[in-house]
Amino acid sequence: MTITVLGSGTSFGVPSINCNCPVCSSEDPHDDRTRASIWIDDGSTSVIIDTSTDFRRQALREKIPTVDGLLITHSHADHIHGLDDIRPYTFKNPIPVYGNEWTITEFRERFAYIFKKTQRGGGKPRITLNIITNDDLKTERQIDIKTLSFLPIPLKHGEINVLGFRIGNFAYLTDCNSIPRESFKKLEGVEYLIIDALRYRPHPTHFTINEAIEAARLIGARQTWLTHLCHDVLHKDLKQELPDGIAPAFDGLKIVI
Ligand SMILES: [Zn+2]
Ligand SMILES: [Zn+2]
Ligand SMILES: [Zn+2]
Repeated sequence: MTITVLGSGTSFGVPSINCNCPVCSSEDPHDDRTRASIWIDDGSTSVIIDTSTDFRRQALREKIPTVDGLLITHSHADHIHGLDDIRPYTFKNPIPVYGNEWTITEFRERFAYIFKKTQRGGGKPRITLNIITNDDLKTERQIDIKTLSFLPIPLKHGEINVLGFRIGNFAYLTDCNSIPRESFKKLEGVEYLIIDALRYRPHPTHFTINEAIEAARLIGARQTWLTHLCHDVLHKDLKQELPDGIAPAFDGLKIVI
């Protein structure tokens, strides 16, 4: 299974519009961070977690050939507003989309045009919406997409409930600032982890870099990558500052498990 980091940046992306800070002016490609998303592919199944605002650019860059399913962590704009660009993947079959109740409700409102009857040739993505219910979360029901199975992990993103996803010994926990106790149990045995770490300064809805390091330690991951990074941190500096087993994620990073 190969996990590709499609985007490793915060909601503004890095560089940020109208900013001339050293990170936004950096010539290191690792500091070019599109909006947070990953692609999981095992050779027969291809799944995207979040259709970020930069999805089109990411799909072209990584030459993603097919998409069999979309898992959505939450409905903030930076995580879903690239949805329309999945159209080329839905010509043959509609793609199933999975999210918690809040996410799917927001999806219906935000993308109302998809579900309205319109003239032919309107070019809309063909998707089916699937709610991951609280009962599913309690009973640890896995989401099966062809050959891959995902366990949704409830997380707190400020006051809202969002989802991370675990597949085997890998977990993707973007956009969170706390992990409920029951979710730590669901993460037992995770060896490879991608986790939200916005910056060093505190933030009301995102883990700081030090909080993310602490969460990774509690989970016991062997290798952790920090994502959803903002323009406070230069890749080169952060890489040097982080302890062993923890590294900054970057666009195009491939993890083979
Ligand atoms: Zn975000
Ligand atoms: Zn900047
Ligand atoms: Zn968010």
